[in-house]
Amino acid sequence: MNWITVCGGGNGAHALIGTLLLQDETTHIRLYLPLEEERSRFAEVISSHSKFEVQLEGEVHSVVSNRIHVTADPKQAARSSTIIMVVPAFAHEPILSQLAPYLTKESTIAALPARSGLEYQARDILGKVGQNGCVLVGLQTLPWACRIKEFGRSVIIHGTKKRVGAACLPKKEIKEKAKVLSTLLGMDVIPYQSMLELSLANTGQFIHPGIMYSVFGDRLGEIFPSEAAVPLFYASVDDKAAKVLSRMSDEVLTIKDTVEQKRPGFKMPSVVHLSQWLLEAYGDDIKGTANLTRMFQTNRGYQALKVPVTKVNDGYRVDVATRYLTEDVPFGLLVTKGIALAVGVETSTIDEVITKTSAWIGKEYLIDGRLIGRDVMTTRAPQRYGIDSLEALIR
Ligand code: NAD
Repeated sequence: MNWITVCGGGNGAHALIGTLLLQDETTHIRLYLPLEEERSRFAEVISSHSKFEVQLEGEVHSVVSNRIHVTADPKQAARSSTIIMVVPAFAHEPILSQLAPYLTKESTIAALPARSGLEYQARDILGKVGQNGCVLVGLQTLPWACRIKEFGRSVIIHGTKKRVGAACLPKKEIKEKAKVLSTLLGMDVIPYQSMLELSLANTGQFIHPGIMYSVFGDRLGEIFPSEAAVPLFYASVDDKAAKVLSRMSDEVLTIKDTVEQKRPGFKMPSVVHLSQWLLEAYGDDIKGTANLTRMFQTNRGYQALKVPVTKVNDGYRVDVATRYLTEDVPFGLLVTKGIALAVGVETSTIDEVITKTSAWIGKEYLIDGRLIGRDVMTTRAPQRYGIDSLEALIR
């Protein structure tokens, strides 16, 4: 039997569980759910239903659910040599802290997706990562656009990326780990050269806050009378929004170029412009490739996903408490901003998006372009961990 631990019980975890079980019939899953209510709910569902289903491109694939073993015990969870966290970035800290005492040099702990700055936090919590301790792997993105259909029983995968990038501490393990993850996930996992490259190659950090800012910033007070009237999220990108996204992506490319110039030999080839990333990640799922606007509007994987909303008396309103801001800003854009400051690059569009969207969620990160807001210590900006120079970032 091949035991793998999955940490998380949300949409991505459902997709991962289904994928792992479909991929190899000898795989069993230790499903680590430290949140009591979620754990008991999941355990109850799988004890009363024998099948777990994955809906993919209109077809339903099913596996027996007795290969899923739910646990809230971190020691049990750490017994698998491969442990995959499929949770929002704010849950990495509690999970890493709970598992830390039980991880050994045989353990590989992966974050799917890593978002940005995972390496600083993991080093802070695990101490020995990258030295004699466990191996840390960060994956660049969740490979699926997916939603739970029925909790503990079925998941719909709306779209699958063609490939996903990964970086590793210690760095020398990446080829081997990428190979293992490619087999487990049934897709190409592309080795990146460093965790810094992974952090900067995180495209969700500007796609999500960038669309919230440029498409929905003027629509925060609007009431959508029915669910059907709620606009699509990604597919609502128009030319104005595409310009903002493109500028944010250009600013990240300037950071990359500056690092590469200052450190000859240090390369980050996976940090590419957003339009190139979309084409590489989604391939033929994108029908219109003429420009960035069309790429968003015609991507098959983006056609079902709506802007997050909250129910109000007379309909639905855009929900600013969405992960697109509460995750992608502190665990994405703020990390990039911190890297930009450490290497001396100006990021005016990123600054504007951070400043506007963080005010919507009641957070203060940037003051006059500096990382001195009261909430910086809740982010993964490298400065929070005392890292504020190019040398320290690379080290
Ligand atoms: P989700 O909201 O469905 O899942 C959240 C899960 O995280 C919870 O069910 C719980 O198991 C776990 N969790 C939350 N707080 C925790 C805590 N304090 N301790 C332990 N566990 C905790 O999220 P998701 O849709 O599965 O997304 C996972 C990640 O993938 C996020 O980073 C998300 O942005 C990213 N992502 C998701 C999609 C998608 O289509 N679902 C697409 C792209 C990226």
